[in-house]
Amino acid sequence: SAKNAGKHRYACYQPHMTAEAMERLQLEQDLRQAITNNELELHYQPQICLNSGTLKGVEALVRWRHPEKGLIMPQQFIETAERLRIIDALGEWVLKTALAQTVRWHETSKERFTIAVNISPLHFEDEQLLTTVNQALEASGLPPEYLELEITETRILQTKAGQANATALRQMGVHVAVDDFGTGYSSLTLLQDLDIDTIKIDRSFIAPLADKPEAAILLGTIVGAAHAFGAKVIAEGVETLDQARILHGVGCDLVQGYYFCRPVPALELPATDQSLYPDTSTAKPVA
Ligand code: C2E
Ligand code: MG
Ligand code: MG
Ligand code: MG
Repeated sequence: SAKNAGKHRYACYQPHMTAEAMERLQLEQDLRQAITNNELELHYQPQICLNSGTLKGVEALVRWRHPEKGLIMPQQFIETAERLRIIDALGEWVLKTALAQTVRWHETSKERFTIAVNISPLHFEDEQLLTTVNQALEASGLPPEYLELEITETRILQTKAGQANATALRQMGVHVAVDDFGTGYSSLTLLQDLDIDTIKIDRSFIAPLADKPEAAILLGTIVGAAHAFGAKVIAEGVETLDQARILHGVGCDLVQGYYFCRPVPALELPATDQSLYPDTSTAKPVA
């Protein structure tokens, strides 16, 4: 109709908006093809035990190698993947790829270690998740106890579907971690209400450690509460040796952050007998 034509012309008279909308649309189209075009890749960030100074786990972090735009970080496309409802396919690709890679590492490294995979809240509520995880474990041959699934939005763990999935996963032997702990709606009562294997303390708790002595007390309290409920603690975003020392002092189990190692391609992962933390007597120094 004339009315609609007018509407369209009006939109065309806003070149800036049109370009933006078109670019978004193009990117969505590209994202739908990203998996089949083999454009996704995983980088891996070590999780270091503060007592041994060595790598005990690895977190898989997805990146999109766009043919024209180069490397795109997950914050630029995960939300879109959720909105387009392709997050399940993406999550499945990440799981399969990460598990296969971990089995290859286990075949060659001196020690076995955990693989942590981020699961979108949408995917965590989906009953298909159990099948996907089972299939990925079977296809790779990785024992379930080496897999940890990270979930950011703890309210998912309180929904019926989310809770059922978490329980079933733990029965399979898969571990569940609460990511970005301390942000959003997550609180210490979670430890009491749910069976959680690991909490990952958000980096907003780590950053103030250098200039606020009280910050260490808060951390110690979180660590103490987690341990009392049988959960392990990982600190995220550790960028300095001083932060690592304070975390070591309050009994934090594992650390992850740029100070130790950035997320790296599979081939660049440090060996399990390499010391990445100098304040420990048990780790062998690197020759
Ligand atoms: P996250 O799971 O909390 O992952 C930690 C993020 O912090 C990563 O960003 C990591 O590169 C970054 N980081 C690590 N150490 C440091 C540090 O010392 N300082 C600072 N400032 N940052 C550090 P990345 O890779 O950009 O991922 C961002 C988020 O995207 C992740 O946060 C996660 O929520 C999501 N994500 C990543 N991969 C996946 C995936 O495969 N599936 C899903 N659903 N989400 C993913
Ligand atoms: Mg994570
Ligand atoms: Mg996090
Ligand atoms: Mg995060």
